[in-house]
Amino acid sequence: MHPILDDHMHLQFQGDNVKAVKEFLKLGGTHLIMSHMPYSDMPLRSLEDFERQYERSLSMVEKVRKETEVKIWLTVGPYPADILRLMEHHSIEKAKDIMMDAMDLAGKWVEEGRAIAIGEVGRPHFEVSPEVWEASNEILIHGMEIAKERGCAIVLHTESATPEGWKELASFADRTGMDRGRVVKHFSPPAILPEENQGLFPSVLASKSNIKKALEKGNRFTMETDYIDDPRRPGAVLSLKTVPKRTKAFLQNGIMSEEDAWKIHKENPEKVYGIEVE
Ligand SMILES: [Zn+2]
Repeated sequence: MHPILDDHMHLQFQGDNVKAVKEFLKLGGTHLIMSHMPYSDMPLRSLEDFERQYERSLSMVEKVRKETEVKIWLTVGPYPADILRLMEHHSIEKAKDIMMDAMDLAGKWVEEGRAIAIGEVGRPHFEVSPEVWEASNEILIHGMEIAKERGCAIVLHTESATPEGWKELASFADRTGMDRGRVVKHFSPPAILPEENQGLFPSVLASKSNIKKALEKGNRFTMETDYIDDPRRPGAVLSLKTVPKRTKAFLQNGIMSEEDAWKIHKENPEKVYGIEVE
């Protein structure tokens, strides 16, 4: 049996959660990497609030482990837009400090085995003030320092990838001594060649055309849906069924080889996250 892994997805208590996972399993999916995302119904003013939010994500992972056969891991970290929420209550300096502390906390969670990587972290994908942009970069670089220290991967949420953007992110990794290959660019286009992604690791959004284009160039990537499990936004993103469905269809029509599937769903995630996919 093939492992089939979705590299970036979310589950919500008010969403389909276990039901969606069961459908994923039914279609042949086997492994999930769930990324923590902020909860708008919970306060976010202090480090303690971050910890309570991370705990809600962990309790979802534990629920899914209890109620299904899937293998699921968690990544945690301060979501890029969280800095704006903190700035509703604090100066930018104070907000930045809390984000840095939330990054340290994520590192501690990795050390304690509650999470496998730091993420999703980075910088807002929408226009922000130069001050917020600068602060976000400093917070991100701090995250890379921690990931380097902990020997774990870091999952980036950033603006749409441009050649300059990839270069800048790679330069941040180099500055901290972080292995570029363990810096995951989530929501990546099929930019899988080293000259396109500067050696950072692309987690490619699993649309048909993206995965087809990626496979024409090679197999150094993972597949993700960025499923958000939000009942208020049905169909806003790919369904959790997409990765197994696409993988099976592409294996059947020969667009993806057995070797590709093994690389994408097992060897790549094992190398990037230091996990065992079996
Ligand atoms: Zn996400």
